[in-house]
Amino acid sequence: MPEENAMTGGGLNEPISMRNFTERLPGVVFQFHRDHNGHMHFPFLAGSGTSLPGIDRDALRQDARHMLDRLDEEDHPRVMAAIERSARWRIPIATKFRIRLSGRRCRWVALRAQPEDSATGVLWHGLMIDITEQMAEEARLRRLSDTDDLTGLANRRRLMARLDEEIAKSNRHGSPLSLMLIDLDHFKRVNDTWGHLQGDQVLTEFATLCQRLLREEDVIGRLGGEEFAVVLPQTPLVASHPLAERLRRTIADHDFSIANGQVTVSIGLAEYRLGEPRDALIDRADRSLYAAKRQGRNRVVT
Ligand code: GH3
Ligand code: MG
Ligand code: MG
Repeated sequence: MPEENAMTGGGLNEPISMRNFTERLPGVVFQFHRDHNGHMHFPFLAGSGTSLPGIDRDALRQDARHMLDRLDEEDHPRVMAAIERSARWRIPIATKFRIRLSGRRCRWVALRAQPEDSATGVLWHGLMIDITEQMAEEARLRRLSDTDDLTGLANRRRLMARLDEEIAKSNRHGSPLSLMLIDLDHFKRVNDTWGHLQGDQVLTEFATLCQRLLREEDVIGRLGGEEFAVVLPQTPLVASHPLAERLRRTIADHDFSIANGQVTVSIGLAEYRLGEPRDALIDRADRSLYAAKRQGRNRVVT
C-alpha cells in the first residue's frame, strides 16, 4: 500500500526524514562528547538499538555514566583506556564490551567511533551494533577447537596454552607447579583383544575418572592417542605425588565396563623449576614416565 509507506516515510523514492531513517537502523548511531573536565555525554543518540533495556536516551544525553556504569567489570577499564587513547592521539576507537542487563544477563556490543576536536573537548561520531549472537557462536567454535572429540577433555593445543599460562604465573609469583604425564599401559593389547571401539570406551571412562578425582583448577588434557597430561597449579611435588598415586590406584582398582575390566596407567611427574622453558619441564616428566614403563608399569615415577 503506497499510502502506508508515504505515511511512515519508508517507501522507495519517498522522502524520508532523518529520524525515520535512524530509527530503522539495526544498531545505534551517536555523537559522544568529552569536555575538558572529563564529563562525558551523548549529544546525539539514535537507532533501534537504543531501545535496549537499560539504555535511557534522555539520561545519556546528560551523562554517559548511565551506560559506562553498566559495562561489565572486566571490560570497563579497557573501554575507558580506548576512549583515553582515542582522545589523546585522535585515533579511532574500535572495541567491544558487555552491557549488563538485569540478573546475570548481558549483551555484547561492538563500537566504532571517530574523534575530532570540538571547542569544549573531544567529539566522536560512531556506531554501536549488538554482536551477542556472533560472540556466542565464536565461543562455541573456540570450545570446539579446544576440545578433544572423544573424551571431551582439553586437547593438546588447549593444554599447552594453559601450561604456558601457569608457567608464566609461576615465574611471576614463585608459586609451585607440577606436571603429570599419564600413559595407559599395554593399550595396544586392549585394542587388539577387544577392538578399537572398546578401546575408545576405556579412554572415555578413564577421562571421567580423572576429572572426578582432580580439583577444579587442575587442567587435564589429552595429548594424543592414550597419552594424557595434567597441569597442577599451586602444587609442589610433595602434594602432586600422593595425588598421582591416588589416581594410579583408582584406575587400577576401577572395574572398566569393557575388556576384562582392568586397565593400568604409568605416570611421570615433574615439578617446574623457576625460569626453565616449558619443554624442559615436559622432558623431565616424559623421562619419569619412560622410567615408570621400564620399571614395570602401573606406577608413578618422579
Ligand atoms: P605401553 O604400556 O608401553 O604404553 O604400551 P602401549 O601398547 O600402550 O603403547 P603403544 O604406544 O605402543 O600403543 C598405543 C596404542 O594406543 C596404539 C593405538 O592403537 C592405541 N590408540 C591410540 N589412540 C587411540 C584411540 O583414539 N582409540 C583407541 N581405541 N586406541 C588408540
Ligand atoms: Mg601406552
Ligand atoms: Mg603411548
